[in-house]
Amino acid sequence: MNTALITGGSRGIGKETALEFAKKGYAVAINYVNSEKSARELALNIMREFSVPACAYKADVKNRNEVEEMTTKIQSELGTITVLVNNAGISTQRDFRSIDEYEWKTMLSTHLDGAFNCTQCVITGMIGRQYGKIINIGSMWGITGGSCEVHYSTAKAGLIGFTKALAKELAPSNITVNCICPGVIETDMTKIFDEITLNDLKDKTLLKRLGTPKDIAKSVAFLASKDADYITGQILNVSGGFVV
Ligand code: NAP
Repeated sequence: MNTALITGGSRGIGKETALEFAKKGYAVAINYVNSEKSARELALNIMREFSVPACAYKADVKNRNEVEEMTTKIQSELGTITVLVNNAGISTQRDFRSIDEYEWKTMLSTHLDGAFNCTQCVITGMIGRQYGKIINIGSMWGITGGSCEVHYSTAKAGLIGFTKALAKELAPSNITVNCICPGVIETDMTKIFDEITLNDLKDKTLLKRLGTPKDIAKSVAFLASKDADYITGQILNVSGGFVV
């Protein structure tokens, strides 16, 4: 059985991705940092509904020790992690001059140290199996840059470089590394926007609707599947045509 670790699997895109993998028969490790109740409930629902092993694991992806403990525990409970989805993320809207050093570092660390820590802790197992799929969740703002999101855009642009370089290094071990860049997706993260802003964002999207977590989860599951075995080092923009 394949085991998928989804960081930030307690809510939003990560939660839907966990459900999608469970539906496809994977054992699912759901990482969270604060939302213990919803992560545990999700694991229980998955086991009941899809009859696959599922468990919630607390770890702050910024923290190397916590990630090491988590991945060791997952591998002993659920087996070698063959799919890693680096999804955990945060966002804030701030004009550039008011981003302080703490916020800048936290933003970069959550996305970049998070992907670095989780990936380093799982690739030995993948290399041993000569098989693995790493899917990083970037953002369209990492491609285009977003006003009042310089810190977020910088972190997400970093994930694009991370994806391309790592794909080159891990291809000889039959491990693919890809990045999905979502557009505006309806989750807690976008609840900060008022209706006028959301309508404006919708209007700028060619398909004239906001994305759903399922839109992203389906793309993640595709990149993790055998159908995508020949795809690596790619940046897949799933934005309803916001970015073309
Ligand atoms: P969300 O609903 O706010 O969920 C964020 C998830 O990340 C939660 O599960 C949260 O865990 C987890 N998380 C945050 N910091 C963490 C940390 N240090 N360690 C471990 N887990 C952490 O966000 P979302 O919209 O689903 O976003 C998921 C990913 O998609 C993020 O990387 C985001 O940047 C990206 N994205 C989102 C959009 C969008 O429009 N929503 C667009 C482009 C890209 P807790 O629940 O435990 O706090």
